[in-house]
Amino acid sequence: MTTIRAIRGMNDILPDESDRWQYLERTVAEVLASYGYGEIRLPIVEQTALFRRSIGEVTDIVEKEMYSFDDRNGESLTLRPEGTAGCVRAAIQHSLLGTVQRLWYSGPMFRYERPQKGRQRQFHQIGVEVFGVATPEIDAELILMTARLWRELGIDGDVALQLNSIGSVSDRQAYRAALVNYLSGHLDALDEDSQRRLHTNPLRILDSKDPGTRAVLQQAPLLSDYLDEESRADFARVCELLDAASVPYVINTALVRGLDYYNKTVFEWVTDRLGAQGTVCAGGRYDGLVQQLGGKPVPGIGFAMGKERLVLMLEALQAAPLPAAPADVYVVNSGGSAECAAFAALESLRSALPGLRIVQHAGGGSFRSQMKKADKSGARWALIWGDDEVASASVTVKPLREQGEEQVTLPLAEVAAFLQRRRTPDTTTQGN
Ligand code: ATP
Ligand code: MG
Repeated sequence: MTTIRAIRGMNDILPDESDRWQYLERTVAEVLASYGYGEIRLPIVEQTALFRRSIGEVTDIVEKEMYSFDDRNGESLTLRPEGTAGCVRAAIQHSLLGTVQRLWYSGPMFRYERPQKGRQRQFHQIGVEVFGVATPEIDAELILMTARLWRELGIDGDVALQLNSIGSVSDRQAYRAALVNYLSGHLDALDEDSQRRLHTNPLRILDSKDPGTRAVLQQAPLLSDYLDEESRADFARVCELLDAASVPYVINTALVRGLDYYNKTVFEWVTDRLGAQGTVCAGGRYDGLVQQLGGKPVPGIGFAMGKERLVLMLEALQAAPLPAAPADVYVVNSGGSAECAAFAALESLRSALPGLRIVQHAGGGSFRSQMKKADKSGARWALIWGDDEVASASVTVKPLREQGEEQVTLPLAEVAAFLQRRRTPDTTTQGN
């Protein structure tokens, strides 16, 4: 029989990796909470129309990357390729837009891309969106928040901030005409996708990864020369606020984002630690999106970071705490009434010592083989129940790794205090 395997580009995250994921998630949640952001949980499936209307018809995602299907009623649904559209949909639907909203979410996203290191078909993002602030201090807040996050995670030395302003819709219309005019003179040197997009969505060409197209773009007109007064002033203010907070950045005039809805500030945090998949976090302002999706004209801004790429960085830089051994205490018993006694005592012990990881041997076997498993588990202590222990309402505590500790038999009532005195301050997050 052929064995069934996971779908290409959709990975399992096994227990020895999930430690790192939890460290990332915990740290992000703490940093976001410290800026007053609230978590919003959104469905993974939305109407296909939501993504067509927000991301834009002529984008990689909508043209060739969405997992869309008809449900049993014939309605077209899509596994979300990103989180902003759903978050805006929810904010409109639940009338959240009367006041400033600072929101975040986390979860799987789906894009039919070519899987490689740092690029999956099911990948995971943490996203942040702010609704209701038109002025540039919020742009700076989001960037400062991400900078703090890299410091907390211990990867700040290996990520760099790139910044640009892509102006307003009308700035881009003027620029678009100049760009099309220039690129039309170099049509043969453009890749196929870019040739096709020249008249449908020419700005997307700036984002092309094709070397021939990139060469042509070297001499292309610059969007920065087409920005209006307001976009220029806002961008200058973002830069000023970042300077004041000593957050270094590079202005990259070629930076445009892969989705249509952005305007004014766009930014990316990039690393050279991950090869071609170097962007770990990307975002920008999207003042027209809420209205475009049927809401009031409320400005928005947000970013998303790729959890796989951040986990790869934590691994490369050994920045996360060492994974803890799965057990602090391993329990062996001689079966029968000893097993019953152990079960009862361990439940009290877990209540008395929250956070202590107590693994009870399962599956029988000789005392010797149980002790071998205890040793292999990485636990510091074995607790042993045999007939003598049952008869005397006690338990034997055997040190597996501790220097200068002897095996002792203690009355049941004293075990919790014994182990508590020997706990390290935090058994789950030590090391580095
Ligand atoms: P890229 O240029 O790498 O394709 P993107 O511009 O398509 O990225 P966004 O849609 O802005 O990416 O998503 C934000 C972040 O999510 C990216 O910077 C990246 O860290 C992560 N990401 C995007 N697509 C994938 C993927 N297929 N696999 C893993 N992470 C991804
Ligand atoms: Mg992409």
